[in-house]
Amino acid sequence: MLKSIILFSGGIDSTTLLASLLNDFDSNNILCLSFDYGQSHKREIQSAKQITSIYSIKNHQIITLSFTEFAYSSLIHNPVNTEGKIHTNSLTETYVPFRNMVFLTYASALAEKLCIYDIYIGVNKTDSELFPDCSQSFIKSFEETANYGSSFIGRSKKLRIHAPYSSLEKHEIIKIGLNLGVDYSITHTCYFPDEKGFPCGKCDSCKKREEAFNFLNINNPLFKKE
Ligand SMILES: [Zn+2]
Repeated sequence: MLKSIILFSGGIDSTTLLASLLNDFDSNNILCLSFDYGQSHKREIQSAKQITSIYSIKNHQIITLSFTEFAYSSLIHNPVNTEGKIHTNSLTETYVPFRNMVFLTYASALAEKLCIYDIYIGVNKTDSELFPDCSQSFIKSFEETANYGSSFIGRSKKLRIHAPYSSLEKHEIIKIGLNLGVDYSITHTCYFPDEKGFPCGKCDSCKKREEAFNFLNINNPLFKKE
């Protein structure tokens, strides 16, 4: 029986979250949702499949969505073109408008249909501070909206959106994962991997990953070249 949905990218945060959930739930109780939204780092989908297979998650859906019509993010328009530049200095060029809103809406619709009351999302402290749709206030507000705008409003039990890492730094999340035995070499972080999926080592995401492992005095485990 499915009891929870996790937005699963195959990165460090969502993989740690999945490993943590498996302490409380049987793998058959968890539905992993991954999104192919035209991101340049498609390698993360491959990682997501690999990880759900390792954790024996039978319910893993990969949803194809298109953000290309309205997203100016360099994650989608790569390399960044002149029209693709962000409009505000307060956000990074990797911001994808309404991404988590769309992902959470999809997950909530599925939750409503399947009578699932718990959705998990692995946003971290840096994401929460940098991207508006990763903030704690957004998550809380979305939860309220989802409960008002669906059949959950008539139920005794309400939909809950859990973001347990929203106040944690990346290195704190990794520490949790290491205690759970997570093999981070299979997680994908890089925004701009090469054609074989190997990380660039230069993008913000690669740098943050490196910094987090450095903080813990651990070599950054990158997936191995075959
Ligand atoms: Zn990179």
